[in-house]
Amino acid sequence: MAQESLTTPTERMATADGKLGAKVVSQPEQPAGGPTEEELNPWITQESRFDFAAKKLNLDDGMWKVLREPTREIIVHIPVQMDDGKIEVFTGYRVQHSMARGPAKGGVRYAKNVSLDEVRALASWMTWKCAVVNIPFGGAKGGVICDPHSMSQGELERMTRRYTAELMEFIGPEKDVPAPDMGTNEQIMAWMMDTYSMHQRQTVTSVVTGKPLNIGGSRGRLQATGHGISVVCDCALQFLAMPAKGCRVVIQGFGNVGSNTARLLFEKGYTITGVAEYDGGLWNEQGIDISALLRHRAELGTITGFAGAQAAESPDVITRECDILVPAATENVITSANAAELKCRILCEGANGPTTIPADEILADKGVLVLPDILANAGGVTASYFEWVQDRMGYFWTEAEVNERLDRIMTDSFHDVISYAQTHGVNNRIAAYMLAIDRVAYTTRQRGMYA
Ligand code: NAD
Repeated sequence: MAQESLTTPTERMATADGKLGAKVVSQPEQPAGGPTEEELNPWITQESRFDFAAKKLNLDDGMWKVLREPTREIIVHIPVQMDDGKIEVFTGYRVQHSMARGPAKGGVRYAKNVSLDEVRALASWMTWKCAVVNIPFGGAKGGVICDPHSMSQGELERMTRRYTAELMEFIGPEKDVPAPDMGTNEQIMAWMMDTYSMHQRQTVTSVVTGKPLNIGGSRGRLQATGHGISVVCDCALQFLAMPAKGCRVVIQGFGNVGSNTARLLFEKGYTITGVAEYDGGLWNEQGIDISALLRHRAELGTITGFAGAQAAESPDVITRECDILVPAATENVITSANAAELKCRILCEGANGPTTIPADEILADKGVLVLPDILANAGGVTASYFEWVQDRMGYFWTEAEVNERLDRIMTDSFHDVISYAQTHGVNNRIAAYMLAIDRVAYTTRQRGMYA
């Protein structure tokens, strides 16, 4: 079936009828130097895709206005005493996009380049992601502008506790449940849980997910995003009638998502030919031994210098020939500047927002099968949902039980998105948005407007 696609914001507006998409965003000419600021703004990207999907759904004007903007945007300025005795003030955000289907849910990011637009986009993507996998959560995201790698454990703990305290009345198991994202981890979640619990005068484990196992974490959560990615890769290969054995995979980012994806695909018999990190890439046509690479990284703190592969330039690795490319690092890594160079059959988005709108168009022309972020990386939030359920029950599942439930949800969601795309003649990304918007709009209508 022919698929309509979302091209530039200018073309998007031409397809809208003036009701959806009142804000006209013109596409400035592409400077010779690379993608425009607009192409790289995650909120504009999110809005554009939302508008396009809403238009395809014939979403009424009122519901479009409700779902387009976040419900609440909180900005906090966090004073922290640094180790040298000086006071530093960090800016933090928490954006709650929707709570229609359940408590808001979403990670907390610590990074130097966090911005309100980025957090807004990530919060909206959480709403759509939770709806795609049909779990009872809305969407939220948090972020603090800081460089976590240059801060001591003490400084990170004081900043985390004050950030949590500033959000005290806005978060909670029935309100908004944070989780780890880039720059945050199990330890940060433990401090958030403890700070919240101190204010409540009782231990409330279900206020955050992604916690250490002994304080209410779930088995399987740490590797769940990679696990989910491996399941949708299996589904995509079946869909394209391609064998998993010998399937060549390139992965960008070797953090939580990238390294777990690499390990799980390697264990399933996929051939990981390339890995790209910040400080360099690796290439081995015969396949990289991921267990050995993980040991190397654990010892030296970097993937570079690994003897089982040739060194390669990181940006070059993602454009080499492969069957599946998994960007698992950060946003805007596949843009109008490099999309034409990609030589993958399947793009499986481990990161949130790795592909820009102009890049989507180029990939569509090349016939790349895209497994969009709000489907492909939803294994993490699905296991977070399991953690929240187990905390509230006080009864914990085995890893096999977690994985069995996760496999079922990821497999069903893959098929839901593929069949939605086929039925409506849209690409997988727009299909995932449409499926999600339809579910959130349905619940919002059912609940009615409180006035
Ligand atoms: P992480 O911080 O553990 O890992 C990110 C890795 O990517 C780091 O090793 C970093 O050095 C590397 N990196 C950053 N920029 C890079 C670049 N330009 N080129 C190559 N490598 C680069 O973070 P994570 O938790 O693995 O998250 C990665 C992505 O996945 C983010 O977009 C995040 O929002 C998304 N995500 C994470 C989860 C989760 O459960 N952790 C769930 C869903 C989505």
